[in-house]
Amino acid sequence: MNQPSETKSILGHSSDAVRAFNRRLLLNLIRTSQPLSRADLSRLSGLQRSTISLIVEELIQKQWVLEGPVAKLPRGRHPASLRLNEDRVIIGADIRPAQITMGVGDVNGKFLTIETIPTPKDPRIAIQQLVGWVHRQTAAFAPEKMVEGIGITLPGRTDSGNRELVFAPNMHWPAVDLQTPIAEATGYDVVLENAANACVLSSVWFSSSTPARNLVVITVSEGIGSGLYLNGQLARGACGMAGEFGHVPITVDGPLCSCGRHGCWELYGSNRAALRYYEEFTGSKHTDVTFSDLLAKADEGDAKAIQAIHEMAKWLAFGMRMIVGGLAPERINVIGELTRSWGRFGPIIDEAVLNQTSTGGAPPVVIPIHEDGLARLRGTIALVLQKDFAEPMT
Ligand SMILES: [Zn+2]
Repeated sequence: MNQPSETKSILGHSSDAVRAFNRRLLLNLIRTSQPLSRADLSRLSGLQRSTISLIVEELIQKQWVLEGPVAKLPRGRHPASLRLNEDRVIIGADIRPAQITMGVGDVNGKFLTIETIPTPKDPRIAIQQLVGWVHRQTAAFAPEKMVEGIGITLPGRTDSGNRELVFAPNMHWPAVDLQTPIAEATGYDVVLENAANACVLSSVWFSSSTPARNLVVITVSEGIGSGLYLNGQLARGACGMAGEFGHVPITVDGPLCSCGRHGCWELYGSNRAALRYYEEFTGSKHTDVTFSDLLAKADEGDAKAIQAIHEMAKWLAFGMRMIVGGLAPERINVIGELTRSWGRFGPIIDEAVLNQTSTGGAPPVVIPIHEDGLARLRGTIALVLQKDFAEPMT
């Protein structure tokens, strides 16, 4: 006897779900192919013009989408068309062990302002500085811009409530709630994400090439991080810990890592490892030499610097064989300062990748991403927009 009302509730739910799906479909089509006319949207989506009109009117009313002549785009494009509203902005912060980069970016991944500060030893000071920066920015651009939220990338993993860092061996910060005080002080939603995962989102959302359905992003800096995009989805694993290849031991009884284990991959293939090799090969301390300096020394012909970089490349490539053999990605994006010297790293990595590709499989394409340190920050835009655009579809 309950059948009619049950049917009605299922139908009601289903029609909401269909509307939400269509809304995300149109938003993503506009995002990736803007500017577009309503006729273009109908052709690309397969939806009826009446359905498109309803959704587009809602998107315009909610100020997600603008419709009209496109003043700033090249001639020859659609005279009157739909595009995302660039006055919707996202505030991003990329927290690293040495520095914090903060930026205000629009929905298309373009940054309006960027500022970098040294990372305070106390995370509570970092929170205060970030909140102060957000207040100054919003005071400067209000009321023209609408802030969609704050995205923060971290060199580690957050707890299941997405509030505090629970695994960040290189940060040396005590565990504190990063999300709640920033959200309360600014009034904006705050989303935290692992830096390598943010780079995956950045690659998938803002790449000009066709997105891969199986992509691994490897970030090489003080440590080694990896973000996994498998079968068209960000793979998080249990407790969000998937991708910690940097802390998988690759030698037995190796040196102690900051994570408490011995012989982790990042002890051999990271920027810090290269600096350690340089000290070992020269037999003296070089506390003032940065990884960037080391790359420059190699370019100037310093034989020990070249040797140190070669050693790092060898171990980085060796560890990547785990990823190639275990996950069989179509593409591996490598992010970090090392991409500036890809002529030294690329051939060693390509050879290892090829040697690990099984018979019958295709070797992944390894691509160095020259992103001026902005991939993580750009990832914060995708991170915050996910709630409206859903997981990226490929
Ligand atoms: Zn470790």
